[in-house]
Amino acid sequence: MTRSLRSHSSRILLIYTGGTIGMKESSSGLVPVSLEDLLEQLPDIDAFPVELTLVSLDRPMDSSDLKPEHWVQIGALILKHSAEMDAFVVLHGTDTMAYSAAALSFMMQQLGKPVIFTGSQLPLGHPRSDAASHWMSALEVAMALGPDGLPRVPEIALYFNHALYRGNRVRKLHAMGFDAFDSPNYPVLARAGTRIEYAEEAIGQGIPGQPFRQGRPAWFPALDQGVLSLKLFPGLRPDLWEVALHDPTVKAVLVEAYGAGNIPADGDLSELLRAFVQRGGHLIALSQCVGGQVDLTRYQSGRRLLDLGAISGMDMTFEAALTKTMHLLGTGGSDFREAFGQSISGDLG
Ligand code: ASP
Repeated sequence: MTRSLRSHSSRILLIYTGGTIGMKESSSGLVPVSLEDLLEQLPDIDAFPVELTLVSLDRPMDSSDLKPEHWVQIGALILKHSAEMDAFVVLHGTDTMAYSAAALSFMMQQLGKPVIFTGSQLPLGHPRSDAASHWMSALEVAMALGPDGLPRVPEIALYFNHALYRGNRVRKLHAMGFDAFDSPNYPVLARAGTRIEYAEEAIGQGIPGQPFRQGRPAWFPALDQGVLSLKLFPGLRPDLWEVALHDPTVKAVLVEAYGAGNIPADGDLSELLRAFVQRGGHLIALSQCVGGQVDLTRYQSGRRLLDLGAISGMDMTFEAALTKTMHLLGTGGSDFREAFGQSISGDLG
């Protein structure tokens, strides 16, 4: 479906995946509407010099239903239109939006064009909704050009509540508030007041391979879901993990450790993890803390993970570490430990 608004304009592909932004009340709670119904509610964008092409996933959904196969579908749509579109806006549920944005940043590299994810806490039709302003601002960011005529934000990013975040640095941190997202370990890429102020020093930083040839992305659709996350808590029973850690299809475990990456001196847990690493499994050390970074040399309790052969997740978000792991396992080839420790798309450091 194409809605052409001006002749000389930015060509933007809008990908609708579902989420609260396009939901309506039903007898069983909020459910996503179709693209056609969403179109009727989308605010007028006549003020923008934009030629909008709209596509939708076959079935718009609550983002808690999204799976890696849907990331592949979103990426394939971007890839298909990568040459002729100037930018992409993805309307998405907030629950797993940070996962999708992070996953896409590994699956689609060097696009050199903006891919702006956004959603909302209240549906478009709600009188106090944050949806219209997010949609409009995401569009404005997607269209923005720098003084050189190139896209101002050639990144996979996420716009929410007056801020633009790097897609693989952002997390959903509030279930109800309008300030639902933050990226504690990376500066915002832009802030929207009456004007949108871009943080030039943060945009594009740490993303290898620049300058990119616009619209010629590297595409890595293969993802391996043989990944588990082990969140530590006082009283964790290691025996409950016995079967999973001996399952040969489990290739990586993200250990959500305490603080700087600390784990208890539990011999049974250590033995299980040691056996997992010895059979070729990848152990990735993350922190349960939202900000800061893993430092496995700081405490004796952190050195335990180091001694087990764990790979430090450094300052990565859980979402980025998980999707990077799926990507690296799926793509294969390179040395996992080395590849994980390097920035693929500005995801760490
Ligand atoms: N459950 C919704 C979703 O993720 C929440 C939202 O969009 O805000 O699709």
